[in-house]
Amino acid sequence: MRRSPTASARGRAGGPLVAALAAAVGSSHVISDPARLASFECDWTGRFRGRAAAAVVPADAEQVAAVVRVAAEHGVGVVPQGGNTGLVGGSIARHGEVVVSLKRLRGRGEVDRASGSVRVGAGLTLAELDALARPHRLAAGLDLAARDSATVGGLVACDAGGHSALRYGTARARVRGLEVVLADGSLVELAPRAPKDNAGYRLAPLVVGSEGTLAIITAVTWELVRRPRRRATALLALDGLARAVELALALKERVPALEALEFMCSSSLALVAERLALAPPEPLRSALRDGGVVLLCEAGGDAAEVDQLAAFLRAGGAPEHTVLATDERQRRRLWRFREAVPEALARTGVPHKLDVAVPPSRLAEFDQRLRALVGERFGAGTRVFCFGHLADGNVHVNVLGPPPEAEEVDAAVLALAAACGGTISGEHGIGTAKARYLSLVRSEREIALMRAVKRAFDPRGLLNPGVIFAR
Ligand SMILES: Cc1cc2nc3c(=O)[nH]c(=O)nc-3n(C[C@H](O)[C@H](O)[C@H](O)COP(=O)(O)OP(=O)(O)OC[C@H]3O[C@@H](n4cnc5c(N)ncnc54)[C@H](O)[C@@H]3O)c2cc1C
Repeated sequence: MRRSPTASARGRAGGPLVAALAAAVGSSHVISDPARLASFECDWTGRFRGRAAAAVVPADAEQVAAVVRVAAEHGVGVVPQGGNTGLVGGSIARHGEVVVSLKRLRGRGEVDRASGSVRVGAGLTLAELDALARPHRLAAGLDLAARDSATVGGLVACDAGGHSALRYGTARARVRGLEVVLADGSLVELAPRAPKDNAGYRLAPLVVGSEGTLAIITAVTWELVRRPRRRATALLALDGLARAVELALALKERVPALEALEFMCSSSLALVAERLALAPPEPLRSALRDGGVVLLCEAGGDAAEVDQLAAFLRAGGAPEHTVLATDERQRRRLWRFREAVPEALARTGVPHKLDVAVPPSRLAEFDQRLRALVGERFGAGTRVFCFGHLADGNVHVNVLGPPPEAEEVDAAVLALAAACGGTISGEHGIGTAKARYLSLVRSEREIALMRAVKRAFDPRGLLNPGVIFAR
């Protein structure tokens, strides 16, 4: 029988491993003290916990490569970690692996105006990347609420989406090239040599979205986008998801500069009001009913492009319960209602967070069936909060009430998404949380091919064991 790397990790971790890691990165960058290790063994939500042999914080790509070689020599698995904001348990050690934090890989190249790209270290945060682009009137072209912690390497590893995926695509669309450390500890550049370069398979796109299971990303050449000169943001109260989807279609058709189309169910908004004392502005507050939704839409571009949103609203394209903001402070305030939902949930309990996506035409059906199912199966004390990226049919389902280990909640919600023609992961990835459910949305043949790719990159299964594929 093949020994799992974590089994050997348990047997051999400790003194010799820690000493070899210290030789690779310096002893002050190896953490093995249980109290200091705790933050590497627990995720942002507090739902996923495990045990690390040690955590290391290398200074550069060469040190990352050296750490991977040490781990391989000791037969110990390696868990890459960026900002630890991933929500599917993929960034924490589970069974005695070495956590490799990429946070010190903070290289900042010059912005190349001609190609509109910049090469940065994997540990730079999304907010820092965007700030680097700003003086050149460029932007990261990807945004999400965890922007101050989520790293460029983590975003690429998860193929993160966020609200602007509607206009600019997911992280995949932003990646021109990658520098990676492979499972044997070699450092490799995966980048086209010219804008058109179809010599053989492109390997960088395979690493995008591989959640640390194929390689450790140490640097990214990131394609920036033109920074909109202006933005306009609107909040709209609607009586249900079916109406929101209908309106979203009209907005996409009539407002080409649309950058975000987000939704929150009325209970999410009520929770934000209750936990963070943030009451929705009038006239939305009075208009919002149980079962209703709030839509946040944003357009970005030059003045004429942005005005299309106001023109659409004025022409009666939307209900009268609308708040429109064009100045930065007011816009930020409207965004706060959407971005505060995860925070309000975290202050309430440890939710079952399930990032699913269904065809937008079936979103209302999914929502209806979800609420019925949760009511029937999990009892009166269970509460459901939905919000997400409407244009992509990407719903973040949060179920509060059942204990974190109540796996039947996850199973039921993911099966429902699949039954509605959707997927079990819109943008957060599979991690360890959904590994056992992959076959709901991928055929046996597809999974066999994925496993063959994994073996080609990582024959000993050392990189992020247990992520994507259940042990
Ligand atoms: C409040 C909040 C809002 C969020 N909103 C969104 C959203 O709108 N859209 C969205 O897509 N996600 C969202 N997320 C999830 C999360 O921010 C993203 O998944 C992000 O990409 C994770 O980046 P990270 O640096 O924190 O990665 P981590 O959490 O550290 O790691 C995530 C995964 O990537 C792997 N990994 C990390 N760095 C590397 C690397 N350098 N090389 C190889 N593998 C690596 C890890 O092993 C793990 O499997 C949100 C999270 C929070 C807390």
